[in-house]
Amino acid sequence: MAINELTERKHERVIVAQDRKTGLKTIIGVHDTTLGPSLGGCRVRNYESFDHALADVLRLSEAMTYKNALAGLNIGGGKAVIMADRYKLQVERQAFFESFGRIVESLSGIYYSAEDMGTSVEDMQSIRRGTKYVVGRDPNEGGSGDPSPYTAKGLLYGMRACLEELFGSGDLKGRTIAVQGAGHVGYPLVLDLVKAGAHVIVADTNERQVTALKKEVDVEEVSPDEILSVPCDIFAPCAIGGIINPQTVNRLKCKILAGAANNQLEGPQTERMIWSREILYAPDFAINAGGVISCADELESGGFTLSRVMERVERIYETIKTIFQRAKQSGELPGEIALAMAEERILTART
Ligand code: NAD
Repeated sequence: MAINELTERKHERVIVAQDRKTGLKTIIGVHDTTLGPSLGGCRVRNYESFDHALADVLRLSEAMTYKNALAGLNIGGGKAVIMADRYKLQVERQAFFESFGRIVESLSGIYYSAEDMGTSVEDMQSIRRGTKYVVGRDPNEGGSGDPSPYTAKGLLYGMRACLEELFGSGDLKGRTIAVQGAGHVGYPLVLDLVKAGAHVIVADTNERQVTALKKEVDVEEVSPDEILSVPCDIFAPCAIGGIINPQTVNRLKCKILAGAANNQLEGPQTERMIWSREILYAPDFAINAGGVISCADELESGGFTLSRVMERVERIYETIKTIFQRAKQSGELPGEIALAMAEERILTART
C-alpha cells in the first residue's frame, strides 16, 4: 500500500537504513528539493509495522515541501522517522542519535534534520556529533533551539488574520479560544492568548500540563473529550493529527479552526464538511510554519537571527489573509488554495 503512495506522492528519494551497533532503524523521506535541500523533523515512534512508518514518513515529508514553500523558505521537504520506543532504547540515547546523525551525513546534505515528536534540542546536539546537517540546535551554540515557541507565535498571527476575516477585527481580547493539548506548542500559545486578553479553555490528556498552566494563568479546564465541542470563537487543535474527521466534525461548536497539529483534518472530504458548516479553516501547514522558519534560519548566511525569524513568522498573518482572499474569489477551499500557492512557488522555481 505504502509503496504505491511513493509513486503517487512523487518522492525524489526514500532511504531505509539501520545501524547495527545501536539498533537504530530509520526511514528518511526526501520529497522535493526544487527550492533547496530538504528539511523536516525527526520523529521517534513505536510504529505498529514498517508499512505504518513508511506511510507516515511519505505523508509528512510531502507536507513539509508545501509548508516550507508557502513559508517563503528556499528549502525543500523532507522528514525522518525512527522506529523505536523512545523510552526503551537499546543503547544510551546520545549514541543512538549520533548513529542517526551518521546516516544523515551519508546523504551529503540533501536532508537536514530537526526536532519533531519524540526528539529534543539535546537529541539534535547528539545528532550533530554524527552530522553537520542538523538544525534546531542549542542556542548556546548558535542554534535556534526549540522551534515550538515560534510555532505558537505564528499561530497567534494566523488567529488574528482569521478573526479579522470573520469579525473585521483581529483583536483577541474577549474572544474565547479552546486549545486542545498544552504541550510544547499549546503551552506557550495559551500564555500568549491569556496575555492578549482572550478567555482560554484548555484540555490535555496529561493532567500535569494543565495543572502547571493553571499555576501561571487563569484558564478554564475541560476534559479531553469535551474540548472538541465547547462553544468558542476559535478551536485550536495542538495535540495529534486526524482529530477532525467525518465522525467528529459535527461536534465542533467553533467559528474558526486554527491550530498547530499537522494533518489535523482526516482526508480532503473533511474540509468540505467544515466549509459547509461555515467554519473558517486556517490550513495547518500554513499557520504552523513558525517552527520550521526558526530552524531553517540556521542555514541563512550569518546563521540564526532572531529579528529575521520574527519578521518571517509575522508574515503568516499575510499568508492566511491571502489564502482567504483567493478562496473567496475562486470558490475553492482554503486548503486547496494553500496547496496551489505552494505548488506555484515550486513550479516557478523549476521553470
Ligand atoms: P507535544 O507532544 O509537546 O504536545 C502535545 C500535547 O497534547 C501533550 O501535552 C499531550 O499530552 C496532549 N494530547 C495528546 N492527545 C491529546 C488529546 N486527545 N486531547 C488532549 N490533549 C492531548 O507536541 P507539540 O510539539 O506541542 O506539537 C503539537 C502538535 O503540533 C503536533 O501535532 C505536532 O506535529 C504539531 N506541530 C508542532 C510544531 C512544533 O514546533 N512543536 C510545529 C508544527 C506542528
